[in-house]
Amino acid sequence: MSVNLQTPIDYLKGVGPNRADLLRSELGIQTYQDLINLFPNRYIDRTRYYKINELQRNNAEVQIVGVITGFKEVAQKRGKRLVANFRDDSGIMELVWFRGQKWIRENLKTGQPYVIFGKTNWFNGKYSMPHPEIELQAEHESNLRSAMQAIYPSTEKLSNKGITNKVVTKIMQQLFLESKGRFVETLPDSVMTELKLIPKSEALFNIHFPKTPELLARAQFRLKFEELFYIQLQLIIKNLIHKSKIKGFSFDKVGDYFNTFYKNHLPFELTNAQKRVLKEIRLDLGSNAQMNRLLQGDVGSGKTIVAFMSMLMGLDNDFQCCLMAPTAILSAQHYQGISELCKPLNISVSLLTGSTKTSYRKIIHENLENGNLQILIGTHALLEDKVKFKNLGLAIIDEQHRFGVAQRSKLWHKNELPPNVLVMTATPIPRTLAMSVYGDLDISVIDELPAGRKPIKTVHRYDNNRLKVFKFMKDEIALGRQIYIVYPLIQESEKMDYKDLMDGYESVSREFPMPNYQISIVHGKMKPADKDYEMERFVKGETQIMVATTVIEVGVNVPNASVMIIESAERFGLSQLHQLRGRVGRGAEQSYCILMTSHKLSQDSKTRLETMVRSSDGFEIAEVDLKLRGPGDIMGTQQSGILNLRIADIVKDKDILEQSRYYAKSILKQDPSLAAPEHKVILNTYRQMSKYRNIWNYIS
Ligand code: ADP
Ligand code: MG
Repeated sequence: MSVNLQTPIDYLKGVGPNRADLLRSELGIQTYQDLINLFPNRYIDRTRYYKINELQRNNAEVQIVGVITGFKEVAQKRGKRLVANFRDDSGIMELVWFRGQKWIRENLKTGQPYVIFGKTNWFNGKYSMPHPEIELQAEHESNLRSAMQAIYPSTEKLSNKGITNKVVTKIMQQLFLESKGRFVETLPDSVMTELKLIPKSEALFNIHFPKTPELLARAQFRLKFEELFYIQLQLIIKNLIHKSKIKGFSFDKVGDYFNTFYKNHLPFELTNAQKRVLKEIRLDLGSNAQMNRLLQGDVGSGKTIVAFMSMLMGLDNDFQCCLMAPTAILSAQHYQGISELCKPLNISVSLLTGSTKTSYRKIIHENLENGNLQILIGTHALLEDKVKFKNLGLAIIDEQHRFGVAQRSKLWHKNELPPNVLVMTATPIPRTLAMSVYGDLDISVIDELPAGRKPIKTVHRYDNNRLKVFKFMKDEIALGRQIYIVYPLIQESEKMDYKDLMDGYESVSREFPMPNYQISIVHGKMKPADKDYEMERFVKGETQIMVATTVIEVGVNVPNASVMIIESAERFGLSQLHQLRGRVGRGAEQSYCILMTSHKLSQDSKTRLETMVRSSDGFEIAEVDLKLRGPGDIMGTQQSGILNLRIADIVKDKDILEQSRYYAKSILKQDPSLAAPEHKVILNTYRQMSKYRNIWNYIS
């Protein structure tokens, strides 16, 4: 009989009610199972001793042998602290206790060799170690010491209450003792054999008490694989269920609209990537299941034409389509571009934004409901309840990261059947992240720019080179080009940012005076109508310089603009820099991006700037961004739940993620209901999954 892992942690010998409460509140450990899945953060070498004169001011954990030469009590604001002088043959340091002083005084002796272990501080010209783990040297050596001792996640409260790493290690040992180290296997034989994985029990033992570095590595691999495998399995099953349950409109035929456009009106040859993606979308739209697809493509990769041609498939099957964009400016641009494309085909299109006049709005509502209006483009105004379609077959959302999941699902309820949904994003999400977060969406990628694009020349310049930059701007303007100058806008320092923008505007105005030069300015404090007016002037070429905050980040298309100057570039994130740069390089001319910064740069800022100068590949930039910021920051908190991995790391364990996805996919392909006897272990584990919050609560 093996021990029941659902037993509350209170019952484990050495735990008791007080410790159990702390383990629950601090680490979320409720059961034996939770404890076994408390994986170490790292391992330290307890066979290595440091000398006091080798210590460095890096606050790392060290182990030292020495003797206590004396105690003193030092009064402090509240109570007193106990300080011991500690010496080895290389130097002296202090040990410090703020609590439990009586016990220390009674039990520790001067003149005897002790082994101390803990983090050191550099304070008042001396090293000190607060609340060291301390043992007589003889005792320390009689216990078997592993070269790799697990260090567990902890909190300040836990260590304050005496639940040290040593205590956690002890109760972990107790758990292995009671369970005899036997745990149920959770992966099928076939996968174990193919990947030469070690069994569950062996992996758990070695993750906590590594016998050798090799076994530790294999234990880590196995547990990471398992974690990622079950996440992928869950996502893929969700996707399959979605497809089988959620009936969508099927666009069976490719008809006149699509064919005529393709044959006679396509303004350019499609790239291979665009063709491939259109094929993927067509297959998906042709099936009975609702399409739920993410279209990723770098800025300028040509997503709009793909969106438009997808809409033509909808129109060919007598459905209405809509395209939603995050800002009024962007919606208007889409409207302009798409109306052009619609003209020769006689398709009716309208634009609906917050500023659409009531009288016109009424006409739109009517024509939507009676089916005269075929394509509706607009902002989130499209989501209002009054906007009712006769038969919405396809909803396209541009720049999807600006819209929440809730908004996405709102579009679904405009019909009795949900429309097919295509979400487009120009912020490339690294493949690994996309697989983990959007595993339940299908993904298409346009990974190729239209031919003939000149790569944008990107340089980094310091503020004191501004005069040269002004000179360069004048030369470009003389050639008939237009220029963006962008200032950061960050919520916390909005006032400062506004001041920077205005100061910048003034100095640019002085350098580029009227009437020879015209300057537009756009920022968040302006009324939308004024913004649009200024934007219009720039789009029409009436102004040569656009001074703006990041409001122009998304989507704006002015092919004649060839220079993007980003002020205080060190304050922007990588993906934002990349987005901004994408505003230029849209015409035939050579384009430039100038990143202006001060001399004071953090290491991360330097990496961001170097990456921008080196690379123009959005996916590569996104990978660097992921490494710098971590997945949580990139996806925002709403989705970070799924990224709450216990042992795997999406960035570092990319290969294992790919592998696990491959296995999850191929197993489900062979055996979608996991009915085969050899998959019973997966089914059992998977069934347990739905019951628990965290996958590690069911995997044991
Ligand atoms: P994004 O993916 O950033 O939305 P757009 O759809 O706005 O990109 O396309 C950027 C520019 O490239 C547009 O001016 C568009 O007309 C043009 N374009 C798109 N596809 C092609 C192509 N295959 N060949 C040439 N130009 C293209
Ligand atoms: Mg676009």
